[in-house]
Amino acid sequence: MVSIRSFQNLMHRLYFHRDSERGTEGTYQWLREEVDELGEALTEANMEALAGEFADVAAWLASLANLLKLDLEDALLQKYGNECPKCHSLPCNCPFTTRKS
Ligand SMILES: [Zn+2]
Repeated sequence: MVSIRSFQNLMHRLYFHRDSERGTEGTYQWLREEVDELGEALTEANMEALAGEFADVAAWLASLANLLKLDLEDALLQKYGNECPKCHSLPCNCPFTTRKS
C-alpha cells in the first residue's frame, strides 16, 4: 500500500526539477489538460485508459502540491478525515445536488 505522502514524495523525486522550471502556472495548466483527458476517457469503455488518466491527474496534482510545499495527505485528512466537511456526517447527509454550486 502506497500512502498519499509517499506517492507525493515519489513525484518529487521524479519530477521536481522539471516542475520547478515550469512553475506553478504551467504545472496547473498541465493538470487541467489531464483532467480534460480524464473527462474524455469517461466516455470510452476502456478501463486501462481510464486508469492511466486517473494516474496522470493524481501525478500532476502531486506535482503542483510539491511546488507549493503543500502536503496533500495532511490537506486531505484535515478536510475529509472522517466526516463530510459540510454536514459533519458519515456518510454525507447533505441535500443532493447534481452540480457544484
Ligand atoms: Zn455532507
